Amino acid sequence: MRRVQQGQRVIPRQAGEVGYLLRVLPLAILLALLSLPLVMGARKHGRGEGARRLLVRVYLTSPGDQQRLHQLGIEDVVLQGDQYVDLNVTGEELLALRQAGMEVALVVEIDTSGTAPHDWPQLEELEGRLERLAAAHPEICRKWQIGTSAYWNFPIWALKISDNVNVDEDEPRVLVNGGIHAREPLSIAACMYLAERLCEDYLLDPKVRSWVDELEIYIVPVLNPDGYHYVVSQGIRFPWWRKNLADNDGDGRFNPEADGVDLNRNFAFNWQNGGSDDPSSWFYRGPRPFSEPETRAFRDLALQVRPVAGISFHSCGEAVLFPWSNYVRPVDLDLLEHMAFQMASVLEKRARGESYSVMPLNGRVGQSSCWLYAALGCFDFTVEVGDEYFPEMARVPRLARTAVKAAYFLFDRVRGSGLWLRVVDAVTRVPLLAEVRVLELGEGPGAVRRTDPFLGRLRWLLDPGRYRVSVAALNHVGVTRVVEIEPGKPTEVLVELAPSAQTVPLGNE
Ligand SMILES: [Zn+2]
Repeated sequence: MRRVQQGQRVIPRQAGEVGYLLRVLPLAILLALLSLPLVMGARKHGRGEGARRLLVRVYLTSPGDQQRLHQLGIEDVVLQGDQYVDLNVTGEELLALRQAGMEVALVVEIDTSGTAPHDWPQLEELEGRLERLAAAHPEICRKWQIGTSAYWNFPIWALKISDNVNVDEDEPRVLVNGGIHAREPLSIAACMYLAERLCEDYLLDPKVRSWVDELEIYIVPVLNPDGYHYVVSQGIRFPWWRKNLADNDGDGRFNPEADGVDLNRNFAFNWQNGGSDDPSSWFYRGPRPFSEPETRAFRDLALQVRPVAGISFHSCGEAVLFPWSNYVRPVDLDLLEHMAFQMASVLEKRARGESYSVMPLNGRVGQSSCWLYAALGCFDFTVEVGDEYFPEMARVPRLARTAVKAAYFLFDRVRGSGLWLRVVDAVTRVPLLAEVRVLELGEGPGAVRRTDPFLGRLRWLLDPGRYRVSVAALNHVGVTRVVEIEPGKPTEVLVELAPSAQTVPLGNE
């Protein structure tokens, strides 16, 4: 990472004006020339052929920010009041800055031959593709609306892809989402391609058939339709728009200087620490957790589906991120990290032969993957597709083919080693809502999981080995079982809980 400029903030924070870009572009071209030796040098050190470089502005809002920059190898940063520093970084370094909790605004892409946002498919085209897919494969694909966007009232669509698609079967559920950030069309392309492969190859490819038959796969391809529509239809002034289009100032119209919420800072897990409380910030977390209809729609779907694992597709950075660091340790951290490395190993970077990077998510900023794990024990991975926001169209098919391998890995892994527990009443055989712990994993976020009350079912991915599993349910006698988790396949365990002795109501005089 190279520091290129430092000084007092002389322009509005959300610099997106055409005039501003015109002022910055000559600087960017100069930077591209200046940074050539740096890029060449980096190649020698294996950073990768053709890694795109971005000019980003990092706001130094606390002494801790300065410390974090030092930890990331950026020296000579002197904090003097309201200051920022401009850095010339790769997409991967941009991610590292964000995950370190820095407020980073992307200024301009340097040396890019990529496309402009208006080259990408319009929202209606994407909706048409989803409609045709569901209509052509009604026995395995169901499409329905899970919510409505904040500003233009666009529908937010979900797909369920499974055999017996209209029945909620007792199968592992995987939830995939994309497009939460407006400027990340690759995340949408990944979801669309995944849905099309699953439906269109169902009868052709035995592997696809086994996933569709044995899993319930849910896909939300465009979680922020307002933002996407804004970027591809009229994003000339703000090609890097990230948020939704919430009317923060309540004046009845959308104003990019004041409006919009960063949906991936709006989830109810450490929401209060994340992003910014300034509505004009690109990272504005919203007035309260789940304040936005888009995040509420996704939350409600997740709570209903109770996925065992999932992927939140983003772009860019060529990285797999897992929950989490920078906060109390998740009890499944070792396996989450291991699976992230396994997933990354099947995702090839633009530099052929290199795999995606792996890093922990920042657990303190209200992101979807962290909420999914904390609330549901869902192993959700944030996958940053590609190395630029708007790549050349000719590159998109390869990028999408790469991205879906992350989902394919997960489809296999959720049927691998783990506990498939069912809890029922010993007398009536009625499924029970139970609290489950794996004692060897210890205490912390994720330590207590709940069974699905309709099926009494809980699926918990575990490494092979011997575990003590404790199960407790209201008005039943709790038990602790020793369970041997087998390698390479799920271990089915049925626990029958005896009703506790009748409790006699106690009266007080
Ligand atoms: Zn994103």
